[in-house]
Amino acid sequence: MKKITKIVLASGNAGKVREINKLFANSGIEVIPQTDLNVPEVPETGTTFVENAIIKARHATEYTGLPAISDDSGIEVDALNSRPGVYSARYAGEGASDEDNNHLMLKELTGVPEAERTARYQCLIVFMRSHTDPVPIITQGSWEGRILEAPQGDGGFGYDPIFYVPTHGCSGGELPLDVKNTTSHRAIALNAMLEEFNKRKYI
Ligand code: IMP
Repeated sequence: MKKITKIVLASGNAGKVREINKLFANSGIEVIPQTDLNVPEVPETGTTFVENAIIKARHATEYTGLPAISDDSGIEVDALNSRPGVYSARYAGEGASDEDNNHLMLKELTGVPEAERTARYQCLIVFMRSHTDPVPIITQGSWEGRILEAPQGDGGFGYDPIFYVPTHGCSGGELPLDVKNTTSHRAIALNAMLEEFNKRKYI
């Protein structure tokens, strides 16, 4: 089986790029963010993480001719009936900033007691060798926590400052990247993907 040495990452999200690069650092694979190859964004028209991840990976591999990996992820809040889910990036509207999204979530959860503020991150990773690959590899990870009443810490990205991680007693925004990368939804899904690569002798 042909070894994989270069992959295009179907995301320009700086937080995701940082985490994924670190997790792949010893894999022998060079991960190139699609923004470095001038791949335009593709509309995420799916209603599930897996559909959106396939749309993004297919677009990136078609555009570049390189194998592609994509991450579609988001946060599900139990008190919001699992919202914002696949709409996490645009929860407060198209082009919303992380601050806008966090602010809206805290507002929607005003008065909700601690025990009912449970939430989890979901991450779907898709790998496609080409845009006609009929068997994309799909892995998944989730990460349990709860929504704080105010932001804590300024590390991570997205909802991390308001996501409390009970196993570590702090917010995602207070966790060093090395620690987040041992436990997060993305770490679980990417490590499972690396195992699949190993099984197929891609690396
Ligand atoms: P996507 O780029 O459409 O997959 O959007 C994912 C969105 O989910 C991000 O913009 C964040 O709002 C949120 N998200 C996913 N993973 C994380 C994480 O590890 N920390 C914080 N927010 C995350």
